[in-house]
Formats: sequence, structure tokens, C-alpha cells
Amino acid sequence: FGGIAKEPPMHIVHIAVEMAPIAKVGGLGDVVTSLSRAVQELNHHVDIVLPKYDCLNFSHVKDFQYNRSYSWGGTEIKVWFGKVEGLPVYFLEPQNGFFGKGCIYGCGNDGERFGFFGHAALEFLLQSGFHPVSHTYSKEVAGNPAIAPNLYKFHGILNGIDPDIWDPYNDRFIPISYTSDNVVEGKRVAKQALQQRLGLKTADLPLVGIITRLTHQKGIHLIKHAIWRTLERNGQVVLLGSAPDPRIQNDFVNLANQLHSSHNDRARLCLTYDEPLSHLIYAGADFILVPSIFEPCGLTQLTAMRYGSIPVVRKTGGLYDTVFDVDHDKERAQAEGLEPNGFSFDGADAAGIDYALNRAISAWYDGRDWFNSLCKRVMEQDWSWNRPALDYMELYHAARK
Ligand code: ADP
Repeated sequence: FGGIAKEPPMHIVHIAVEMAPIAKVGGLGDVVTSLSRAVQELNHHVDIVLPKYDCLNFSHVKDFQYNRSYSWGGTEIKVWFGKVEGLPVYFLEPQNGFFGKGCIYGCGNDGERFGFFGHAALEFLLQSGFHPVSHTYSKEVAGNPAIAPNLYKFHGILNGIDPDIWDPYNDRFIPISYTSDNVVEGKRVAKQALQQRLGLKTADLPLVGIITRLTHQKGIHLIKHAIWRTLERNGQVVLLGSAPDPRIQNDFVNLANQLHSSHNDRARLCLTYDEPLSHLIYAGADFILVPSIFEPCGLTQLTAMRYGSIPVVRKTGGLYDTVFDVDHDKERAQAEGLEPNGFSFDGADAAGIDYALNRAISAWYDGRDWFNSLCKRVMEQDWSWNRPALDYMELYHAARK
């Protein structure tokens, strides 16, 4: 890590509303934990400030203890301290009950709850004598932040994945450990385990996995279309997803009922949040489909590659930045020092997604040796925090000035 690691350590505080594995809804939870660990490994001091949700998964919190209390916003706030994945975490528990509602998001007054938390967290830093991340930032947050006038402060940095948390060589949720050297065997056994666990036919068929929050951002209509297209092409589909919106959840429950009667041995929709199952899908699938309408970074395509699954994505945001189409993006990949690693499409209609999915499935049927070498190749690409953590360090340095 060259010059940056030799500089004096900085004190970085992440004020966050999700943190894997104790309070994870989506990628934000992964990023808070894995970015913090990466920055800590560069010898900087990292603290995390998190709401003390009543639904925290406390089994992953070590040395949990009362720390102090202070008042802010007309209420007393109790502060608790504990360690999560080796990271120091301060948990704020306002006595107004804002985080005692049994959920992270979707409690009706999220704007109010998280607005309160942002202020309360800054007040905590002030009152406890922490002197981190930036004066300008605290002023902004203390005022009423509107994004447009602050665009010059926005920086796009890709996320990374934590290679220890997502590691097919050391993953208790998959049947055998594998690396790029035995990826074919590792994935074959994982696919069988996945098929057995979900009651699908244990056959050598192309398997498309989808792991997502079911919201319009994630391209719901494209997901539905891709399920039917995959079945038409005699493939299997496993979807793991849950919808915060009950109408969307209902819609998928109906689709699941329909598919489980028409294609019971080839389609399974698991409409819940299930971390262990997600690991088995990443390992057992041939393809991970991510047809998002917009995507700030996206982690599922990166995790897919870590497990030797081939991403099939819509060309948008971070998906465009990390997935390079085997037929069209050789030069763009080379400019990043990479080989192409997946299939992608433009547009947001059936024709677009068909174009990518058909090529992917045909490659599986028609060129297994080539396909296997692609799985090996994507596993060897580095999607950890090695690169993005350095970008963050640069940003932290700039923020101090
Ligand atoms: P977002 O943050 O918009 O949800 P990301 O792709 O950045 O999207 O991150 C999604 C993360 O949440 C990934 O780690 C993915 O594996 C996980 N995830 C999404 N849905 C589920 C689910 N139903 N069960 C388990 N993990 C899920």
C-alpha cells in the first residue's frame, strides 16, 4: 500500500444505519463492515456509530457494555459499546423509542428517525471529544442537506467485497471448499447441494441465480421475463429476494405459486432474506443475473465472480464499471488491466435482456470448456477493497484539508 500506509494513522468514524452481519438489509451493511476492516488494515483507527435497533443480531457482538449517556433533541440517548467483526461500534439508543420498532427501514417515519440519528451521532462525536472525518461535513449535516448544490463533494468510489467473509475456500455454508484450481468440481457439488436443498431436479442444467431486494430499482419486470426465458431454454432458476412493499411481495408469491406448479423441478422462488442460502446460490449458480434499472455500485455481481459465477447485468452504474462483456468489451476491460468477465445488455426491455441471457446460456450449452475457463478467470479477478480502499484514503485526506 506504498506511501499512504506510511502516513500517520487517521481516525475515521463511520456513522451508519446498517452493518453486516448484525443489521444488514442490503449492500450498505456489507460496505460498512468490509470498508472499515480494509481501512483498519491500512493501520488507521476506525469507529462505527450505529443505531441500537431492537432487532440487532446480538450473537455477533462481543464485549457488549454500557458506555455513557447524553441528551440531545429533547431525549436521553444511551450509548453502548461492543465489537463486531473486530471493529469498535458505538450503539445509540435514544429513549424516544425510534429504534425499538422491530425493523430497520419501513417504520413509517424513516425520514424523521434517520434525520434524528444523523444529528444525534454528530452530537455524540462532539460531546465525547472525538475529532474525526470533516468540519465541513458536520456543518452540512447539521444544516439541511440538499444534494444538488453539493455535487462537487460527491465522489464515486466502487465498493469492494470482504474476501474473508465471501470466500469459497473457507465458507461453512457450501459443501466443499474450492479455489480457481478446482472451480469446476466445487461448483458442481455446490449446484447439487442447492438443487437438493430446494427440491429441484439434480441435473446438469444451466442455473441462473438472482439474489436481490425486490424493488423497482432492481428491474423487477426484467427479472420476471428472465425467469421465463431461462425456463424456455431448459435452464433452472433460483431467486432469493424479499420485497419491502407488500404489493410486490404478493405479486411474487403469486408468481412462485404459478412456477412451482408449472416448473416445480426447475424453478424456485425463495421470498425471504436468507444469508446462508445466498452463499450456496453464489457457489451453485452458473450465472448471477443483475438487471438493475440503476445501481450505485452493486455487490452481487462482485460476489458472484468471487464464487466463479458469471454475471449477466444491465449496463448501468457500477454494473457497467465492473462487468465487461465477453463479446463487446475486450478493449474497455484491457484499459482496466482485466479480461472480459460476463454478459451485459442495454435498454430496459425484453429484447435487451434476452440478448445477454441467450448468449450466456448458449455459451454454457455449446462451449463448456470455454465456459469453465471463464469461471476460473472471473474467480482470479480482484474485487476486494484493495483498490477502492486506497481511493477512500485519498478522499479522507482531501476531506481533512
Ligand atoms: P443493494 O444495497 O441495493 O441492496 P447490493 O448489490 O449493493 O444492492 O447489495 C445487496 C447485498 O444484499 C448482497 O450482499 C446480497 O447478497 C444481499 N442480499 C440481497 N437480498 C438478499 C436476500 N434476500 N437474502 C440474503 N442476502 C440478500
